[in-house]
Order: sequence, then structure tokens, then C-alpha cells
Amino acid sequence: MPEEWSASLAARGERSFTAKQVFHWIHRRGVLDPASMTNLPARLREHLAAEGLGEVLTPERVHRSEDGTRKLLLRLRDGATIETVLLPSVSGPGSQAQLDADAAASDDTDDEDDDAGTGAAPHVRVTQCISTQVGCAMGCGFCASGVAGLKRHLGAEEIAGQVLLGRAMLEEGEELRNVVYMGMGEPLHNYEATARSLRLLTHPEGINLSTRRVTVSTSGLVPEIARLGADFGGQIALAISLHAADDATRSALMPINRKYPLDELLAALRAYPLPRRRRITIEYTLVAGQNDDPAEARRLAKLLRGLPVKINLIPMNPIEASSLGPPGVERVAAFQEVLTQAGYSCFVRRRRGDDVSAACGQLVLLGAKPKVRRAVG
Ligand code: SAH
Ligand code: SF4
Repeated sequence: MPEEWSASLAARGERSFTAKQVFHWIHRRGVLDPASMTNLPARLREHLAAEGLGEVLTPERVHRSEDGTRKLLLRLRDGATIETVLLPSVSGPGSQAQLDADAAASDDTDDEDDDAGTGAAPHVRVTQCISTQVGCAMGCGFCASGVAGLKRHLGAEEIAGQVLLGRAMLEEGEELRNVVYMGMGEPLHNYEATARSLRLLTHPEGINLSTRRVTVSTSGLVPEIARLGADFGGQIALAISLHAADDATRSALMPINRKYPLDELLAALRAYPLPRRRRITIEYTLVAGQNDDPAEARRLAKLLRGLPVKINLIPMNPIEASSLGPPGVERVAAFQEVLTQAGYSCFVRRRRGDDVSAACGQLVLLGAKPKVRRAVG
């Protein structure tokens, strides 16, 4: 934060303007190596380097898929690796890609600052998916991170740093529009670093993302959902990994449900200080024979009644460590139909970046296809 830089640099007799310059180098220009901060005095650059300021993430590999999805493998200072994904979609009034983007990011189509229709040249909006932990402690059986277990939390700089690198990789005409905390790890299990990274990403002197274009996805840590709501006034978009509508089914898929069962989770969602006209995204990974019965869809419709939600159905992406898999297309369609008939806006996410060699299933599942478009297209 600029004020923290101010405080630490003031102790060395630097002016607050200098602190702002350092923050700008890092967060506006993505430069972390003090040696490259050319407008700073040499002695200060040396001091910052001695203090350990420098790159926290090194891009190791980039996989590009045919649909433009780019998956970055990043190495941390201690040698661990994480992934982040850039998901471009061409914007334009009513284009399929625009609908995809609107559905992928938990953002309704009521953008007052939308440039669609103003005559601006079509450009490519990019959603970036970021990680918050190396592995994950939540142990969901269908998830590669869950099966791997938690190796360690990421620091706020490592979380926000993914966006600095992602932004540096943008191509001609691309704009970083949305950030989703849907990579490796459970963001709310690493609350402090997640909250700090949210402040960094939305800081007006830095990357300056709008809070409503940043979505935190959680498996349902009830106290931290309340904390996130209170700390950010409900401005951060929320996505909940529900995956079942009854406790027995949910606990079998997601151990966290034994700690925070559905009634407590639903109460936390009702209490989230969501701004008017905004909705909570419900993620529902469909796992064959586990949670894909139309009766479960009917229970889900009942469970969510009265909550402002939109539902994303995600046919499970098979992972090596598990024999679980996705239901067939017809089963998915039947599940969706129940929810659509019940009046919910419900999307089936199509896989993006299928041809990218993907170790971390969820990272490549962010595209969405609204049903209405499927019917006509
Ligand atoms: N831990 C957070 C955020 C990361 S996971 C959470 O669980 O919400 C992001 C999403 O990917 C979650 O909805 C998760 O359930 C889903 N996911 C994980 N592994 C998957 C897989 N193999 N197939 C489909 N969705 C998966
Ligand atoms: Fe963790 Fe989310 Fe994977 Fe569950 S789905 S193990 S909470 S990353």
C-alpha cells in the first residue's frame, strides 16, 4: 500500500512522493526490480534491493490453447509452482464472447461504463484466474488441488503479482477486465493475504480494478464470508462452490460441509451485503452419479429460492487422481432444464483451453455458454 511505503520510507527521510513512485513502479508498471526504477535515487534503489524488493514470481512456461486461453506456470522464490490463466473474449454488443465473459465473471450486464455501442473499436476483454495457495487443505475429491493437499499459503504480493504478470502479457487490443479467485487454493482459508491482495488490485494508485469486477470463489467458509462482506461492504463479487443441495451429498464431495453445513452457508449468503442488482454466482460441478440427479436440481431450486443468484453448471473435468467424472451431455441438459424452468438463470460452462495440457482442472473451466445461445447456435 502507498501509505505503508510512505511510513517505511519516511523513516529514512524520503518524501511521500517517493513512496508513491515506488508503488507506481510496482503496481502500475509491474516493475519489481529496484535497479529498473530509474527515477529513484541510486542509494534508495540499493536500499530497496537490500530490503529484498524484487520479483516474487518467475514465469516458467506459457501454454497457449487454440481458443486464445493462456495458462502460465509461475515459479515462486522457494521453488514451488502455481498457475494462473488468461481468458480472452472478443467483446461487442450481444456477441457470444461477450455473453461468455459476462457469465464467467460474476458481473451483470448493467455496466454503466460499457463501451459497447459507442462506436469504439471492438476489443478483447480478458478475465484472469488467479491462485491463492499452493495446493489446498479443503480436500474436495474431484479437485486436483484438493487431492494434492495444502503446501503453503501465498502472500498478498504473490497473489497480486500474478495479475501484474498477466497484465504484462496482454496482447494488442486486450484489456484486463475481470479477475477471478478460482485458481489453486481456497482464498478464504488464506483470508489476510487474500484481503490484502484485493486492496492492492483495486487500489486507485495501482492496477485500479473495479471491486465488482473481482470475484472471490469459496467452498463456503462461513465466518470468512461474513468478514469479506464486512471488510469490503459487499463490493467484492462472490462465487460459492455449492455442488450439492443436501448435506449428505455435499459432505461426501466437500469435507468442509461437515464444518459449515448448508443451513449455515445459506444464512451467510443471505447476510452478505450484496449491492442492489448484483447476484451471487453459484458454482455447481456436476459429478456423474454423485450430484447430477434431476431430483437434486429440484432440491437446489428450492434451497436457493429468494436469493439473488445465477447458477453455473460445470461438468467435472476429469483429474488423474480420481475416478470421478462428468455426466453425459443429456444428463447435464436435464439438470439445467429443471433450474431454468424454476426461473433461475443457469449456464453450462464450456471448457476453455482443452488443448492446453492442464494439471489443474478448474483453471480451464471459466468460459460459459448461456442456454439461450446454445438453442439458436
Ligand atoms: N477453492 C475455491 C476456489 C478455487 S476452485 C472454491 O472451491 O470455490 C474454483 C472452482 O473450480 C470451484 O467451484 C471448484 O469446485 C471447481 N473445480 C475444482 N476442480 C474441478 C474439476 N476437476 N472439475 C470441475 N470443476 C472443478
Ligand atoms: Fe480447494 Fe476449491 Fe479444490 Fe475444494 S475445489 S479442494 S476448496 S481449490
